[in-house]
Amino acid sequence: MNVPFLSLRDVNAPYSDELKAAAARVIDSGWYVMGEELASFEQEFAAYCGVTHAVGVGNGLDALSLILRGYKEMGRLRDGDEIIVPANTFIATFLAITSNRLVPVPVEPDPSTYNIDPARVAAALSAKTRAIMPVHLYGQLADMDALAEIAVRHRLLLIEDAAQAHGASRGGLRAGALGDAAGFSFFPAKNLGALGDAGAVVTRDRELALFVTALRNYGSGVKYQHIYQGFNSRLDEMQAAMLRVKLAHLDDDVTRRREVALRYRQEIRQPCLRLPAARTEEGHAWHLFVVRSAQRDVLKEHLGKRGVQCQVHYPVPVHRQPAYAALRGAHLPLTEQMHQEVLSLPLSPVMDEDAIAHVIDACNSFGAAA
Ligand SMILES: *Cc1c(COP(=O)(O)O)cnc(C)c1O
Repeated sequence: MNVPFLSLRDVNAPYSDELKAAAARVIDSGWYVMGEELASFEQEFAAYCGVTHAVGVGNGLDALSLILRGYKEMGRLRDGDEIIVPANTFIATFLAITSNRLVPVPVEPDPSTYNIDPARVAAALSAKTRAIMPVHLYGQLADMDALAEIAVRHRLLLIEDAAQAHGASRGGLRAGALGDAAGFSFFPAKNLGALGDAGAVVTRDRELALFVTALRNYGSGVKYQHIYQGFNSRLDEMQAAMLRVKLAHLDDDVTRRREVALRYRQEIRQPCLRLPAARTEEGHAWHLFVVRSAQRDVLKEHLGKRGVQCQVHYPVPVHRQPAYAALRGAHLPLTEQMHQEVLSLPLSPVMDEDAIAHVIDACNSFGAAA
């Protein structure tokens, strides 16, 4: 039996009729950029997150970049300011910072959750620190209570990279409502995925929302009047229509992800394989199910031979990438160890019973083969 890491065709198949009807609606409308589908999606996504504003943009990286650029235009950030960021994240989090001429300060994770460790954040503060940008890695909320306390005490902005955490919540507040602003990605493989690239900024800050709205559209609030040197980073009508269809099913999809993750956590019994923990059940949206093993590469090969396709998120930490040679000397042993040990098992809302059981059996047979 083959279990693909993620089949986007299968993920979208249950909504195929609805998606095609929505696509036809857009095609027939004759209006393809900055129209009613986007306005409706922005309202619906803001309501979903429990905030007042959502601004659709081209992708998740742009969402994060435009938040920082907006704060620069507002005078809240300046060139050279330091932003604290998890050392173990996708490179986009760093790119958003450096592309704005801000300085990323990488901080190590709590090894039990993989999320940024608040105690280490406190230790990394300097006179130049202006913001903390936690990532809800693999779909699990970072420790936002502890981070918010540090942010308030030191007057720092708290910006969520929520690209992996659509639908995770804490005390009735969803990812996106737990800081000053949040960036989401709707890349097709994310928990809420478009059929192409898309992203959004969400915030309760009306001023920031206005800045981002102008910046995504050439720095213009009124046509042909350009107040800022902006970008072209818009969420088009077709993707907005696709996202409206899928947003209505997001909670069901996340529930299904939690059920699959729970099966793995209860039934994978394998001493050389460490399972991920959820601090709370609702706080984890299970974008990825990431196990750890000192024998990661052998495990990956074992699973591959049994038709279980796995991936590594991520094989090389940002500070070891050629693009960030300036960070090469950073002392980040936990992050480096994690990158050698993590393995992502297949997890999607459309996995059937046979596929789940096959992944569990393949993991449990590892010890026997090793
Ligand atoms: C996917 C992702 C992004 C970037 O989103 P894109 O839409 O691909 O630009 C940013 N941060 C994290 C943590 C992500 O996983």
